[in-house]
Amino acid sequence: MIVHHTATGNRDDLSLDWAYTLSRAIQNWHMDHNGWIDTGQNFTISRGGHITEGRHRSLETLRGGVSFVHGAHAGPANGSSIGIENEGAYVSVAPTDTLYESLVDFCAYTCHQYDVEPARIFGHRDFMSTQCPGNVLYGMLPQLRRDVADRLGQSPPPLRWPTVIRGDGGERVRTVQHLLRHHGAGIAADGGFGPITENAVKAFQTDAALNADGVVRQETWQELILALRRGSAGEGVRAVQRQLHYQGFTTAVDGQFGPGTDRSVREFQARHGLTASGVVEPPTWRALVA
Ligand SMILES: [Zn+2]
Repeated sequence: MIVHHTATGNRDDLSLDWAYTLSRAIQNWHMDHNGWIDTGQNFTISRGGHITEGRHRSLETLRGGVSFVHGAHAGPANGSSIGIENEGAYVSVAPTDTLYESLVDFCAYTCHQYDVEPARIFGHRDFMSTQCPGNVLYGMLPQLRRDVADRLGQSPPPLRWPTVIRGDGGERVRTVQHLLRHHGAGIAADGGFGPITENAVKAFQTDAALNADGVVRQETWQELILALRRGSAGEGVRAVQRQLHYQGFTTAVDGQFGPGTDRSVREFQARHGLTASGVVEPPTWRALVA
């Protein structure tokens, strides 16, 4: 399952009529403008929570549970996923509760029909260089996976490294920037992912022999992070402290891993079901930035 946003306006019309109108408008655009045989995505969820079929026979195959319709929504991932477009633009605001509830229901049903785990819910940006499904909706995917697992009576899925991309803002971006600074980049840790940060990411990726696309995914995270413990100091510690602070811990942000940071790290680890070792290693980093 690949989650998208339509990047269209956040309208107040929550009616079924509008959901149909939107669905047809997308179909017209994809056929008349893009020259495709039908709508690109498999399903569309309106801000009113109404789910409409996109590409023909998507619903029939989903009900059957053995095959799916090959759509056009996520480039290289088209052949192994179904695309769910969510009406609206979620770069800086969250979707309506009604939309989110429909998305949970729909993903739970899809997981059940195709016998796939909620951990297999992704965002468009996990596969292509795009903002989609917006910083805010993308940031809700860990919660979505947990809610879907809960709906299916399954235990919570493991956390994934988030994809961070140009145009994003917030604490996760600041963490990337602090880590880039640790690795020698002369950039500001201002929480805004603009061209300067993107260039710093590309330079870092080149040095680390990674694909220099400027997008921070799992492989780049794994090279960026470092093990930290009591006595550590510097930009990496600052990144951890800022995340802890942001997540409600009363931690000083001074770049010094002292007893206060140690206490907060252990508490954070305990809350997230991790070994409360006080050592910040990959599982703790992943939980910090998820
Ligand atoms: Zn998309």
